[in-house]
Amino acid sequence: MLDHATAPEFNPVTPSPEGARTAADVVTPELVAQLAEGVIGSGRTINHTPFTGRKLAELPESTPEDVAFAFHRAREAQREWAALPVRQRAAVLLRFHDLVLRRQDEVLDLIQLETGKTRLHAHEEVQAVAVAARHYGRRGPAYLRPKRHTGAIPVLTKVSEHRHPRGVVAQIAPWNYPFELSVGDALPAFVAGNAVVMKPDTETALTALWARRLLIEAGLPERVWQVVLGEGHVIGPAVVERGDYVSFTGSTRTGRGVAQKAAERLVGASLELGGKNALIVLPDADLDRAAEGAVRAAFSSAGQLCISIERLYVHESVADAFLERFVARTKQLQLGSALAYGADMGSLVSQRQLDNVTRHIEEAVAKGATVLAGGRARPDVGPLFHEPTILDGVESPMAVCAEETFGPVVSVYRYAEVDEAVELANSTAYGLNASVWGGDGRRARQVAAGLRSGTVNVNEGYAAAYGSVQSPMGGMGDSGLGRRHGSEGILKYTEAQTIAHQRLLPMAPSWGMNDAAYAKFMSVSLKVLKALRFR
Ligand code: NAD
Repeated sequence: MLDHATAPEFNPVTPSPEGARTAADVVTPELVAQLAEGVIGSGRTINHTPFTGRKLAELPESTPEDVAFAFHRAREAQREWAALPVRQRAAVLLRFHDLVLRRQDEVLDLIQLETGKTRLHAHEEVQAVAVAARHYGRRGPAYLRPKRHTGAIPVLTKVSEHRHPRGVVAQIAPWNYPFELSVGDALPAFVAGNAVVMKPDTETALTALWARRLLIEAGLPERVWQVVLGEGHVIGPAVVERGDYVSFTGSTRTGRGVAQKAAERLVGASLELGGKNALIVLPDADLDRAAEGAVRAAFSSAGQLCISIERLYVHESVADAFLERFVARTKQLQLGSALAYGADMGSLVSQRQLDNVTRHIEEAVAKGATVLAGGRARPDVGPLFHEPTILDGVESPMAVCAEETFGPVVSVYRYAEVDEAVELANSTAYGLNASVWGGDGRRARQVAAGLRSGTVNVNEGYAAAYGSVQSPMGGMGDSGLGRRHGSEGILKYTEAQTIAHQRLLPMAPSWGMNDAAYAKFMSVSLKVLKALRFR
């Protein structure tokens, strides 16, 4: 049985260290003025810090006309940018990599202040951006290099595949990973020779604008990356309507509308959307490691991570032993808002997020679920803090069962057969990320292959797959279309072109051959090509 008596009633709070920086130390009027120069817009909008709910900065707001102007500028700049040798474009990313690591404290402060996450969780973004910059800085030219292919008639047809930039990419980014999902996703687009018009979320715009300045410092021409700011439903459509390609990260609901707009214009789109990610604990898992991993997977960035785990499937033979560890560790997680390392979990980002978390928990409890840990908002720490929460006894049709919570709430389910766990894990419309824990690695990987999920981590929650940047990352089903990372993450920002040069003989009857003779000659040739193992 679980022993709740020894665990503390409330999650403890990490105090701010003596002399820690405050929002006013970081977001100075000088910094805001510098960053605001990067926005095309003459209106006024305000962003806040979730740590206190107070105003952080006043920034320009863009109108649909400003968006049109941003595209005009980006389009002009793109031609010159695309004309540069690809190695020169890639070199910008390698310089950016070094600058990010050197100046990380500046952006860690901004990420923390704008999202409310802990410094360690903010550092995940620094790592992800550095990895993407290194990868596309080094491998970008090889991905984009013209490739020779066998022609229709070998030797006589000389064929090459070329990659051209799309032009101006429309990029829409959410608030939850404002560094990684702004610049991190734009880097391959730049290497491929595109310009970008980006609409970050206003509440996390300082981070995106800081990234833009740093990339310009690394050598990106200013006009190649335009930023517009404003309400999603007001200027979002204006951004989507003008892009030669659309890169969208956000909710499934908004993503559907964006996809329809792109489809009407027959431009491509990649959509990185929501998830209801499952973690399976196999009977032979190391329970200490699995419990520790599940804590990270469920509560990093207070669960406001698209690849966070929200459903835990634990084999009935180990369920009590696993839960004892998982619940005890979750109750120890320290909440905190200092601009310093130390706290285990930060704040939610907005009242909307807090309301959603509260709604999911209250509805589940009203219908019979039990709270094993957490379950309460923590206004004593900050207006939007909420405890990491574990629910047991969750059943359909409770909203928390299949809807994305996008907060620090995880439900525990017991299973008897592994096939049953796989079926349950696959039972939502989403398919973004999953995790399998087991002692027998081969068996765990077999289980992983049966999951309908764009990434599956074995003996890790989410970071192993996301950090493996040579490999594609993205969602199946309602979790999206297209992939970031690897070859797909850069080739999506290009148009493929095949140039086939026919030499000596035309692809038609010639040398006095009639149609029937030509048809026979081609039929024989096809048999020979197969026999010679041409592909
Ligand atoms: P959201 O869809 O509300 O907003 C995302 C972005 O779209 C914001 O910049 C917003 O201003 C903009 N937007 C809103 N309406 C628009 C419209 N009509 N046209 C164009 N743009 C519009 O999502 P959110 O709440 O900001 O982000 C959380 C969601 O994002 C979660 O569902 C999460 O799972 C998902 N997400 C997915 C990934 C991934 O890689 N799959 C990564 C991060 C977040």
